[in-house]
Amino acid sequence: MKPILTLDKVSVHYGKLHAVQQVSFVIQPGERLCLIGANGAGKTSLLKAIAGLLPASGSMHTDSVAITRKPPHFVAAQGIALVPEGRGIFKQLSVLENLQLGAWLRKDTAAVQTDIDNILQQFPRLAERRHQRGGQLSGGEQQLLAIQRALLGKPRLLLLDEPSMGLAPVMVNAVFDSLEKACRQGVALLLVEQNARLALGFCQRGLVMESGRITLTGDSGSLLDNAQVQAAYLGL
Ligand code: ATP
Repeated sequence: MKPILTLDKVSVHYGKLHAVQQVSFVIQPGERLCLIGANGAGKTSLLKAIAGLLPASGSMHTDSVAITRKPPHFVAAQGIALVPEGRGIFKQLSVLENLQLGAWLRKDTAAVQTDIDNILQQFPRLAERRHQRGGQLSGGEQQLLAIQRALLGKPRLLLLDEPSMGLAPVMVNAVFDSLEKACRQGVALLLVEQNARLALGFCQRGLVMESGRITLTGDSGSLLDNAQVQAAYLGL
């Protein structure tokens, strides 16, 4: 089986600042991979580069095509969806309109409607508020909406930037339950998460990023047992 995403020596610069430095890794179809690291390590920049929102050097490709320096709509069409930090929903549009936009690339209109109906059935809070503006939802509800909107595009790989940030524990559980469901249906994840324990508990494998570089990689169990990871990211 070919990796769903391969990164080879990917770098991102902001002027003279080398925010992502020669990062290489692969993600297998259906795999859950987390990326942990301190503030400013370069995690968001890397996700944005993969999604086509920032120019990057090096090479990035899916199992079939190169996505290096391709625009966001091209990357999305390869089945890669980004749920950005701060959710990135359209706050002025209704919940329903936000969901409909998630399916903008799909031609199977009837199936899209069925998928939206299923989401509304699964998340009654979104159903009750489907005609309200997205900006009126709570932070957790906006995060759920952002994830469901991304999933409506039927991605093969979901890039998630800090999905638990600022959420009450009950909403964190709801968000991760919805991710669990998506993963069981075969969606692969690249999860950036400040809560390293949560991320390593949810994913099979992890990468540690420091000052733009990947400094450690391994299966989640070995990273949870790693003294360096425990001291830096698990508060032990
Ligand atoms: P956080 O966890 O705080 O979101 P991060 O690991 O996602 O951090 P990035 O946001 O990717 O890190 O930032 C990496 C580096 O690039 C930091 O030094 C940051 O200050 C810098 N940076 C990020 N965005 C820009 C920008 N638009 N212009 C200039 N420098 C930037």
